[in-house]
Amino acid sequence: MLDLWYTENHTDNVRFSIKTNKHIHSEQSDFQQIDFFESEEFGTFFTLDGLMMVNEKDEFVYHDMITHVAMATNPNIKKVLVIGGGDGGTVRELTRYKSIEQIDMVEIDERVVRLSQEYLPITAGKLEDPRVTLLFEDGLAYVKNKEEGYYDLILVDSTDPIGPGEGLFSHDFYNNCFRVLTDEGILINQHESPYYPSYAHEMKRAHSKIKGLFPITRVYQFHMPTYPSGHWLFGFASKKFDPLKDADLDAWNKLGLKTKYYNTDIHTGAFALPTFVKEMLNDA
Ligand code: SAM
Repeated sequence: MLDLWYTENHTDNVRFSIKTNKHIHSEQSDFQQIDFFESEEFGTFFTLDGLMMVNEKDEFVYHDMITHVAMATNPNIKKVLVIGGGDGGTVRELTRYKSIEQIDMVEIDERVVRLSQEYLPITAGKLEDPRVTLLFEDGLAYVKNKEEGYYDLILVDSTDPIGPGEGLFSHDFYNNCFRVLTDEGILINQHESPYYPSYAHEMKRAHSKIKGLFPITRVYQFHMPTYPSGHWLFGFASKKFDPLKDADLDAWNKLGLKTKYYNTDIHTGAFALPTFVKEMLNDA
């Protein structure tokens, strides 16, 4: 029997491969190449333009970390905007908070959502929650046109800064995020990986733009086995709350949410960064 392997270039000199059982679906949408695969080790997974987005085995790490750090910092978050996130995993975690009243998800590519609903119900299963509104448009244009001071939280669950995701790393985009956030608003965004130089360069660029806009900016890390180097970062930017000084961790524990990666020790520990990452951020 023939072995079928999915292979992704993490750098020009490093490749990452997963043995697959089946190439379930392949299409070129209006925005990107979409492929879904089935595998023994990572279950069902999908790629956009040949880059791993989500798989059944490690999606919990990313979705816990994009959502719960902000929610534990400000338990009064009511209105949330998710940009990208077409697989639905971020929305799934948000719907677990009874206190959230409104979740708007702005995803440029409807095909990612429809295919995730078909092949990845583990992440897409909560997109029909009555608090969720799906908007199929460019996140960059959406925040540009949205009224000021509307959202308590923006989660940027985007692709890398190439293709349709490029604008979501621009100064203009971050500036509009600042504008549409309330005075207590929090922005969580992709900070890529500090490890390989090409990703670290994007991380520094994103960080320097955000640092110039928000009074409070921090970076936290987590471990994603299927992303380049496995060492990944999110940026935490806020107008008011510091995720370490202001988080009410006891209150979060009292909610009784069962999570597989996030816990309140991780909340604090994730902000403790290796020396080389601190140096990069100081330089940014
Ligand atoms: N967890 C993933 C990662 O870090 O690789 C991100 C997954 S999610 C599928 C990313 C989504 O962002 C994609 O579905 C893509 O279509 C969407 N996206 C890219 N650019 C966008 C834009 N300008 N506006 C809205 N959504 C966008």
